[in-house]
Amino acid sequence: MKKIYFTVGPSQVYPTLYKHLQNAIKADIPSLNHRGAEFKALYKSVDQNLKKLLGVPQNYQIFFVSCALEGMERTILGGVDKTSFHIVTGSFGKSWAKYAEELGKKVIKVETKPGEGIELQNLSISKEAELIAITQNDTSTGIQIPMEDIYALKQKYPEKLITIDVVSSIPFLDIEYKYIDITFFSVQKGFGVPAGLGIMIVSPDALKKAKRVKGKGKSIGSYHSLLNFSEKYQDYQTPETPNVLNIYLLDNVVKDMLKRGIGEVRQETLKKAQMLYKFFENHKKYNPFVKNVSFRSLTTPVMDVKGDTEKIRAKLAKHGYIIGTGYGDFKNEHIRIGNFPAHTQKDLKKLLTLV
Ligand SMILES: *Cc1c(COP(=O)(O)O)cnc(C)c1O
Repeated sequence: MKKIYFTVGPSQVYPTLYKHLQNAIKADIPSLNHRGAEFKALYKSVDQNLKKLLGVPQNYQIFFVSCALEGMERTILGGVDKTSFHIVTGSFGKSWAKYAEELGKKVIKVETKPGEGIELQNLSISKEAELIAITQNDTSTGIQIPMEDIYALKQKYPEKLITIDVVSSIPFLDIEYKYIDITFFSVQKGFGVPAGLGIMIVSPDALKKAKRVKGKGKSIGSYHSLLNFSEKYQDYQTPETPNVLNIYLLDNVVKDMLKRGIGEVRQETLKKAQMLYKFFENHKKYNPFVKNVSFRSLTTPVMDVKGDTEKIRAKLAKHGYIIGTGYGDFKNEHIRIGNFPAHTQKDLKKLLTLV
């Protein structure tokens, strides 16, 4: 039976992915020399297409990393001399703070209880913090932080770098990049491309900061550092031999999304999210884990199914629908359902009739 992955990551590939994979093989993309003109044209194409799709300003730079966790590390190394501030609403935010500690930075953090959001306007952040690290959508708990609150934080603390992990909310999330210094994500969730590629979107201010950190004699990374990336980017090159095949696949999925129109892609995701929450709000036994509506993730909703996780997963699997368990301590208490552009309303409707 054909399986449909409603998992939160990796998730269902984009409907056109295998067609692009076949084209890649026909065009010998796996043998492509990463120093040649064809690769430069490919990098330029992804750069321009992603900027168009997501509304990224032209003076921001787009870099390829191996995954989102690498994005966390490069962000800390390039953006922090001594102290970073972390907003932790789940285990991905927790990891990011831990990496900063391991990299020798002083970490200040606020941490919420699982399932609780945070009112950023009540937050007071000490002067010494140079960068604010925010997991915009924490996939472990299904907590999202409204972008308007993040913009307000930048206006309150304009001298600090604002950096966001949007792995499981992009491309649904509409971002005003002028308020954001570093945005990163990997491609196996919302873009429906195989794992093994991460994207960083970096502002001119973040690059200036990296220069200052390096100037103080701190390491900002070796082969991969914001400055190393930036230098190569001038000529659409990468420091290492990159994941050319995945870059090709991402470029083609982004082109498909551009053809469909990002407005329509986002509208459909919103409709599916409403369908999901309505179903679980009206359910006689189960309910959404996050109580406060403004913090509910629209792309990775988490439902409290009162210990029925395996029962539900087994029943859905019989029909080919694969969904996620709860995270960590909630493994057998919650289900997590990916709501990405590759998932159709029709399949979601069918899935819900089986819960
Ligand atoms: C999945 C995920 C990550 C990790 O992504 P990798 O590609 O495994 O590095 C980081 N942050 C969030 C919010 C995620 O959902």
